[in-house]
Amino acid sequence: MIELHPAVSTFLSRPSQKLLVGGAWVDAVSGKTQRVLNPSDGAAVANIASGDARDIDLAVSAARSAFPSWSTTAPGAREAVLRRFASLILDHAEELAQLESIENGKPYGHTLSIDAPVCGRNMMNASGIPSRILGETIPVSIPGMFVYTRREPLGVIGIITPWNYPLVHFSQKIGPALAAGNCVVLKPASLASLCCLRLGELAVEAGLPAGTLNIVTGQGSATGAALSAHPLVAKVQITGSTAVGKSIIRGASETLKRVTLELGSKAPNIVFADADIPAAVEGAFLAAFGNSGQSCVAGSRLYVEKPIFDRFADLFVERAKRAKVGHAFDSGAELGPIVDRVQFDSILAYIEKGKNEGRLLLGGSACAAGTVPSGGCYIEPTIFSGIADNSALTREEIFGPVVCIYQFDTEEEVIRRANDTRYGLAAGVWTKDGAKASRVSAAIEAGVVWVNTYDKFANNVPFGGFKESGYGRDNGTASIEAVTELKSVWINTNA
Ligand code: NAD
Repeated sequence: MIELHPAVSTFLSRPSQKLLVGGAWVDAVSGKTQRVLNPSDGAAVANIASGDARDIDLAVSAARSAFPSWSTTAPGAREAVLRRFASLILDHAEELAQLESIENGKPYGHTLSIDAPVCGRNMMNASGIPSRILGETIPVSIPGMFVYTRREPLGVIGIITPWNYPLVHFSQKIGPALAAGNCVVLKPASLASLCCLRLGELAVEAGLPAGTLNIVTGQGSATGAALSAHPLVAKVQITGSTAVGKSIIRGASETLKRVTLELGSKAPNIVFADADIPAAVEGAFLAAFGNSGQSCVAGSRLYVEKPIFDRFADLFVERAKRAKVGHAFDSGAELGPIVDRVQFDSILAYIEKGKNEGRLLLGGSACAAGTVPSGGCYIEPTIFSGIADNSALTREEIFGPVVCIYQFDTEEEVIRRANDTRYGLAAGVWTKDGAKASRVSAAIEAGVVWVNTYDKFANNVPFGGFKESGYGRDNGTASIEAVTELKSVWINTNA
């Protein structure tokens, strides 16, 4: 078992975590708190403040007050403070990774090697943005006119994040927003607030001015809804479920807020008969069971071409059978626990349905007592075949370690079936035929297609969904456009 970092023990020893409002750490106005449980063993590890609309109002006011100064701070000065913030994140990677693993159960090997360093690198990348926000000069046919465009910050941006990649989402969204001169109110998921609060402390230590970044923890239905409807919030950026995304659009519509939505998915992962089979098996395993399937891009619909179906299914089942499920701090565990009891019950209900509809190839139950720590919610990697295309298991985001494997005959057929979904976030294609890879990638309705790989990200590559997986993009130049307004300026040079 991994030892707890002393700074994490100190952080967790506080009776309750506070909200960051206007540069001060304060209790919720109501004084209410909520418990944070460690999903690996069910132990209570901390209390967080349970904010509500009043706390959101105070945080938005603080952000609004900070905006005139931050938005006119020289790009070089904004860069310097964000660079310091990024360095602090990288210096504190171990403790941030531990906090994330403690609250969402993701194996520590993953949070330490991926989530925390990616968070630091995203912030470092954002620190280069302020002097790269460019306008253009535009030739027009009206004599004497000099026309140029400017990209200006929006004002206060409300950012709402989920629990499954809290460090990554924090940096991916807050980095560009602050870099462009906006001020932010963050509402992190209740199940993953601790690491975001620690990031808030590091932001303060880096010298981010008071009110520039505010963090209000609390329930989505109260705190998140208040943030997304607040009249002084110019834009809401959320990563979360499609249902919550829709409710946010409704809340934002009254004041026509800009909205960026990174939502749910049901990603198809397609293996053609000419694929490198061992690579595709490993790729399909990671796609389906990475983070115990609690990933927006989880390759939970696995389509395998008929000639290799039986062999592939055997190898895939063998690979998943070898995966150890365990405590996030158990260095041998490839899969951690399910994040909470609600999600655990929901996944098991899908599994029971699958047992009546198809053939269970592996798993199908909660992990047996004695094989995993007591108090945690653990589910065996579960594989079904023979599930119908119109089943809930094919259509709905299960968000757990459950994958359905389907047989297909032709390229045309698999494209049709892959696209037969309301979602469109991500897809995988496995083939050695470059022309086929290019045809299928073009035909798939998804914001990202991985060919002979899966789950790859970079902060300069746009990421976001088609259809009900949302709109707008994180990362790349699109993420700067998402946090700025475009203004055209006409100057009469004859005046
Ligand atoms: P969720 O939608 O339940 O919650 C997301 C955030 O929204 C949380 O902070 C929550 O408190 C808040 N919220 C809940 N109700 C709200 C409301 N009425 N108004 C405003 N805010 C509200 O999602 P989750 O369970 O935290 O995360 C899992 C979901 O996120 C999955 O659907 C997954 O696919 C999606 N996700 C998408 C991406 C992506 O990039 N597209 C990445 C990760 C996760």
